[in-house]
Amino acid sequence: MDSKKLKVIIIGGGIGGPALALFLKKAGISSVIYESRPYEENVGGGLGLAPNGLNVLASLGLNEDVINAGTVIKHAWFKNSRGKTLAKIRYSIPEKYEQPGVAISRASLNKILVDEVKKQDIPINYNKKLKDIIQQNGEIKAYFDDGSFTIGDILIGADGIGSAVRKYLLPNGPFPAFTGIVSSAGFIKTEQIKIIKQDEIDSLNFIYGKNGFFGFSGAGSDEIMWWTNIKVTHPYSRAELTDFDQQNEKESIFKFYGNYASPVKEIIEKSDNVMRFNVFDVQSLPNWFSGKIMLIGDAAHAVSPNAGQGASMALEDAMMLAKLLRNEKTVASAFSTFEALRKPRVEKIVQEGRRRGEDKEISGTFKQLIREWMIRIFVNIFGVKGNAWLFDYKIDWD
Ligand SMILES: Cc1cc2nc3c(=O)[nH]c(=O)nc-3n(C[C@H](O)[C@H](O)[C@H](O)COP(=O)(O)OP(=O)(O)OC[C@H]3O[C@@H](n4cnc5c(N)ncnc54)[C@H](O)[C@@H]3O)c2cc1C
Repeated sequence: MDSKKLKVIIIGGGIGGPALALFLKKAGISSVIYESRPYEENVGGGLGLAPNGLNVLASLGLNEDVINAGTVIKHAWFKNSRGKTLAKIRYSIPEKYEQPGVAISRASLNKILVDEVKKQDIPINYNKKLKDIIQQNGEIKAYFDDGSFTIGDILIGADGIGSAVRKYLLPNGPFPAFTGIVSSAGFIKTEQIKIIKQDEIDSLNFIYGKNGFFGFSGAGSDEIMWWTNIKVTHPYSRAELTDFDQQNEKESIFKFYGNYASPVKEIIEKSDNVMRFNVFDVQSLPNWFSGKIMLIGDAAHAVSPNAGQGASMALEDAMMLAKLLRNEKTVASAFSTFEALRKPRVEKIVQEGRRRGEDKEISGTFKQLIREWMIRIFVNIFGVKGNAWLFDYKIDWD
């Protein structure tokens, strides 16, 4: 295959889509991105980029931009609701993983990738919602909801958890599964909260109490991001996710976490734009590709944010797929090798996200006591080692 002649259609301009376009360009392959939303800044909450994700961004020369826009995470700091430290382990270990882990808003990460896409003159089209695909005579026709269409040689679905490309490939499922968790989350300005210590800003703070889990960390020089895990029986409806009263939401979060040690109470009090998310995952699909169509990122294997790996997995996928399209003899062998190399790792991570979410549930006094002792013993002794299989993954571009 002369990969340099390929025309790649990328559906989705989130994290994996722009990263794939940049790696394809590095491989000499042209692509065009189609994104359903209008171009907007400041959409979404905060996310963690693990050292493995930063290593991918370093291959694009974007690691410094991301480090400057986010907060380098030095520690994972586990506490109970009284503020007592249960375990504190190193998270970024540059001598081991080269790059650090970073907490950043999803909007900043998306902007850094999209700005680079534009700088490199890769076309990115907004307000283009994929509606249908036709594979015919060796080419692919993608139709959008504004009536327009495009033609290419291969199509990559980087269109996230609600992927239209996945629905085309696997119309009868499996569908994303609800993890039983909804998350309320938000940001506050660091200057709004004086009692927070620098060491806390530079850590992922995981607070476990009888009323459930509360997390926070720095997310850039002047922001703190926070998030919760609340166990529910049904996911929120679209209206419940977007159209709720901020004051009521804060009061209900306060009921859960208002008695947790500082700075939890203060963070909730100062937040004025609380977001709600349903947590779904995609555990295992029978196949990620068919013919000339492939899935990457959340479209193929959405993972609960509790694993801290969603964006990093999409970045790894992007780099690996571009490398294989450059190196392999045919698209078919690039796609099958990609699936064989990536599936075992990402499916294990999706399971890990489920497990970490379940560890954070509301508990009775006795269960909370056991949980605290488990964290004291296991995280302190095995925590750093336990992260190694996640972080110690490097794709050699050459
Ligand atoms: C608006 C938004 C906010 C998010 N906020 C958070 C957060 O706060 N914390 C967190 O951990 N994760 C968040 N995520 C998810 C996170 O970005 C992903 O888990 C992860 O980065 C994997 O990236 P991805 O590129 O596979 O998917 P995504 O980042 O979800 O990107 C998929 C893109 O495809 C687009 N798209 C969807 N359907 C179509 C279609 N039919 N046609 C064309 N384009 C389509 C979407 O608009 C989106 O831009 C958010 C995702 C989105 C879309």
